[in-house]
Amino acid sequence: MESCLIGTNTTSSYIYIQPFKLHKCGETNRIIEMEKKIFKLESINPINNMLQFTFNYSINNKYKMLRWKLLHFILPCKQLLLQWHIQETSMCDLCNVTEDYEHFFLKCQFFHEFWKKIYVLVSKIKIGSHIFNFKTLVLGYKIHDPMYNDINLFLTVLLYSIHKSTHISNYKQKDIDAYAVFRNEFLKTYEINIYINAKNSKFLNDVKRYI
Ligand SMILES: [Zn+2]
Repeated sequence: MESCLIGTNTTSSYIYIQPFKLHKCGETNRIIEMEKKIFKLESINPINNMLQFTFNYSINNKYKMLRWKLLHFILPCKQLLLQWHIQETSMCDLCNVTEDYEHFFLKCQFFHEFWKKIYVLVSKIKIGSHIFNFKTLVLGYKIHDPMYNDINLFLTVLLYSIHKSTHISNYKQKDIDAYAVFRNEFLKTYEINIYINAKNSKFLNDVKRYI
């Protein structure tokens, strides 16, 4: 049987995994077609590039898992929970609109203050807010170019922090400082990255300076 999905070694949080590419088979074929349709992709290269990034540069397994689930559209949001017959509505509890990934990560009023602070942060480090859109969150920003690995690591920490904040607020039922969650996650990632790569890039140092 052809292997199309590669497992991760969970014995270490910081383990590197050999690069691999998607092979067209079964479930993976469905995902490729879905991604191509949603993002109007002309090839599967962006998906493969994100997989390479995920398993070679995502620092630890919780980020790898988040990226993997997001790329395969199996990270829960209410739109998917309805499709999976786990919940009876796809509506965001706060905003009364469909909670798809775009709403979950980018538009929900629960994260309004969080995003205001993130926009201030990226303006200080001179990164345009154009890096924040549905496509770049799922498929990465210029993911084909390793020069942008640290920006994509930053985006991964950001996505993880939104996801984590959603859950520790009991799905937006109680207030939480999501920016503090993000700051804490970033600083931990910053230290791990030094441990792995001996030093951090100017970009990561700038984020640490202004976060
Ligand atoms: Zn909402």
